[in-house]
Amino acid sequence: MTDAYEVIVIGGGAAGLSGALMLARSRRRVLVIDAGQPRNAPADGVHGLLGREGMSPLDLVAHGREEVRGYGGEIVDGEVASAVRDGDGFAVEMAGGRRIRAGRLLVTTGLVDELPEVPGLREGWGHDVVHCPYCHGWEIRDRAVGVLATGPMSVHQALLFRQLSDDVLFFLHRQPDLSDEQAEQLAARGITVVPGEVDRVAEGGVHLRSGQFFPRQAIAVATRMVARGGFLSGLGLKPINHPSGMGEHVPADATGRTEVPGVWAAGNVTDLSAQVSAAAAQGALAGAQINFDLVAEETAAAAAGRG
Ligand SMILES: Cc1cc2nc3c(=O)[nH]c(=O)nc-3n(C[C@H](O)[C@H](O)[C@H](O)COP(=O)(O)OP(=O)(O)OC[C@H]3O[C@@H](n4cnc5c(N)ncnc54)[C@H](O)[C@@H]3O)c2cc1C
Repeated sequence: MTDAYEVIVIGGGAAGLSGALMLARSRRRVLVIDAGQPRNAPADGVHGLLGREGMSPLDLVAHGREEVRGYGGEIVDGEVASAVRDGDGFAVEMAGGRRIRAGRLLVTTGLVDELPEVPGLREGWGHDVVHCPYCHGWEIRDRAVGVLATGPMSVHQALLFRQLSDDVLFFLHRQPDLSDEQAEQLAARGITVVPGEVDRVAEGGVHLRSGQFFPRQAIAVATRMVARGGFLSGLGLKPINHPSGMGEHVPADATGRTEVPGVWAAGNVTDLSAQVSAAAAQGALAGAQINFDLVAEETAAAAAGRG
């Protein structure tokens, strides 16, 4: 492994490996640095992914790594601690102190799901505590579902899970009362609103602080989604509030270009709602854009050399 690359991809999930695949196939010297914790790691399978439906999340990235390596891309396990501008490129420092240079960066570090502080949620996360009807809805179809209200998206979430089960309870928890329109929507779909603060999720159901217990086989909860981007501060980039109110992201345009020239971002770090297929598509697009940016730079240098 050399210590200078044309591109360093920071994060090797669906977005990062897709970007690296495009770059490696474009004969770019590309290094992926990956901490090995894709967001969906707790889940048994990846769903809604054509051609790989139900594959284990860790198997998916293991296959992706092999595909990238098959074209000469390099992958190293580890965590990036910081990134700074260094001459006409960038220097990336890994936890442990190793410093590596590159001309371009692709940031694909994903996000962290912050769960409400209710005992029992973390333990069931990705199995019987879920967030996404498209990821796990089929797996919990026809079960007794409890939606734990956490914010403005919770009614929307309850209506989506109602498509999959006709037994859905909506736990208001600490949220303010619903608007008349929201209450009407839930009532119209046969979703019962349960007032009162939730104490814990345990023994196959939801315990309220009042002592009431509601048996539930699955809990749906919207998380606060926070981009993993703290290590970018040396570049003047940082996660900011997402306009949806759902969390924090690193802004980028439709091609993945961030406000820092030479730095692209793709997948959940910039698009909080991207599923695996969307994250992979964004990574591939960003990889192609980075290749084109390098081609343009090389062409300009070659043309200047002729003059
Ligand atoms: C429980 C659960 C189940 C899900 N199920 C599905 C599903 O069935 N189908 C679906 O389409 N989507 C599913 N999703 C969504 C899916 O996880 C995301 O769409 C996908 O992981 C986004 O890919 P990504 O490449 O942007 O980020 P990630 O897959 O999260 O990859 C980011 C990578 O970057 C690494 N990283 C982070 N910080 C650093 C750093 N500083 N240095 C180096 N590496 C770093 C991480 O360790 C990780 O390996 C699920 C999500 C959850 C929470």
